[in-house]
Amino acid sequence: MSERTQLILPIPPPPADSKTPLVPARMVNEWVYCPRLAYLEWVEGEWADSADTVQGKRAHTRVDKGGGRLSSPDELDEEKSQARSVTMSSERLGVIAKMDVLDIRDGVVMPVDFKKGKRPHIAAGAYEPERVQVCVQAMTLEDNGYEVEQGAIWYVGSRERVRVNLDEDLRSRTLEAVRDLRAAAQTRTRPAPLENSPKCPRCSLAGICLPDETNLFNRGYPPRPLNPSDDPALPLYVQTPRARLRKKGERLIVESQDNTVEVPMIDVSQVALFGPVSVTTPALHALMRAEIPVSWFSTGGWFLGHTIGTGNGNVAVREAQYRAAFSARRSLTFSRDLVSAKVRNSRTMLRRNWRPERGTEEKQDAMEGLKRIARRVLHVKDVQQLLGFEGEAAAIYFAHFQKMLAPGAAEGLDEFSFTTRNRRPPTDPVNAMLSLAYALLARTLTTTISATGLDPYMGLYHRPRHGRPALALDLMEPFRAILADSCVIQAVNNGEVKPTDFVSNGPACSLKPKGRKALIAAFERRLEQVTTHPLFGYRVSMRRMLEVQARLLARHFQGEIVKYPHYLPR
Ligand code: SF4
Repeated sequence: MSERTQLILPIPPPPADSKTPLVPARMVNEWVYCPRLAYLEWVEGEWADSADTVQGKRAHTRVDKGGGRLSSPDELDEEKSQARSVTMSSERLGVIAKMDVLDIRDGVVMPVDFKKGKRPHIAAGAYEPERVQVCVQAMTLEDNGYEVEQGAIWYVGSRERVRVNLDEDLRSRTLEAVRDLRAAAQTRTRPAPLENSPKCPRCSLAGICLPDETNLFNRGYPPRPLNPSDDPALPLYVQTPRARLRKKGERLIVESQDNTVEVPMIDVSQVALFGPVSVTTPALHALMRAEIPVSWFSTGGWFLGHTIGTGNGNVAVREAQYRAAFSARRSLTFSRDLVSAKVRNSRTMLRRNWRPERGTEEKQDAMEGLKRIARRVLHVKDVQQLLGFEGEAAAIYFAHFQKMLAPGAAEGLDEFSFTTRNRRPPTDPVNAMLSLAYALLARTLTTTISATGLDPYMGLYHRPRHGRPALALDLMEPFRAILADSCVIQAVNNGEVKPTDFVSNGPACSLKPKGRKALIAAFERRLEQVTTHPLFGYRVSMRRMLEVQARLLARHFQGEIVKYPHYLPR
């Protein structure tokens, strides 16, 4: 390296010690492409596959098998040879590089990186992030005593090799990127999202990063619909007593006395098991490896818990969540807005679904009452006051719940008469359905929240209690009426659940299997319904909406969004 080079290069980061995590060369590439992407993936452990990443993995299939051998620097053959899939690190730089191919000729090594797609027709021959990645590999080889003169990129799509000149500028840019990424990781500073960048629509992490949604709050840009409106994978419910879930290749097989059902695992987003259903160990292992959560329910639909893999490794988001939960001031501010949103959404539900044939003389009073409470809760001084207002709003809402049920929609509708909410145990059909719908919503949100890295058991309004998914219960408050109550109303009004679908045992009323299946189907249909996000204006399914809200909450805890935007449909 020339004297001039040494003068212009950025100061390298301090050498890594045995405890410093080494930066993968691929992450340096991503840092140059988008610093936030590298941070989310490497520091926060976020990952999502896209068509691009799947293609990328395919392009590496051959080289990842390895092959050839790299001798030590002083034993390198004069002969031409090749080694594949070689991993090497440099403590001086604090990096680790997995090199696809090393071409060795006359004692000189050339790293060749494999990229999917075709060679870009640009002056530099390859994009800067890709050249930087090759430069990290070259510098790592040099630090290990190998002589490197240049690098190369092999474009699998066009089957072309492009040379990478390891000039001073590229080396300087590479050192700068390594230094900045390590500094961001050390200080745990998540870079801001790119602004209106054409990179975001192609980015596999757009649904996790929420670049435009975050920029809307901080800079006022309207978001583009970067999130896929829905996830094609769906929950798999197993409700037949003594059914057995096992795995065969990449498929899940549900066997019961009467039939056998096969589902490709890729089509399953989560598994919900009701009552005495068994799962084989290989199936459970495969589900945990694929990060597909398994939820366990009692026969009556009580949510007992769930089994997940190693879970989301993003500790920073949980730290931020705990800091917010431990702050009485932040918890109260959040809870006021939360209860206000819940009351407003209950009001919206009543306003939209109040059936004129059931009389409208009390409607105005109910609307006014809920509106007044939604405003007053924003000024309460403590949680006790908040609970009082929440109870008052629930009394108004449930007193009129029956106004949303169509008279005569189902045979024997009197069975659906409903006067007040009760749950321990539910004593009438509507309460039994509401209890199951709330359990389904809590389960859905518990798994959604876990996937974002938040701890579903640490809430701000619902305080932690053994086994209670307090944050899921917090987040579900504004969705209770919109998702759970509405699916109960639909199931009754459409005649999907009938009075004969219930069984009473003493004061307790519960759904028979047929009724439970019908209500679960109504709930899943409701989650699939597509709606316009009231703030962002794009169309998403309600299932995706829950995920967007959970991710916004994580962004709020981490200080990227000052005020958490509760879901408030018009
Ligand atoms: S969505 Fe955009 S800002 Fe976010 S990580 Fe991807 S490229 Fe970067």
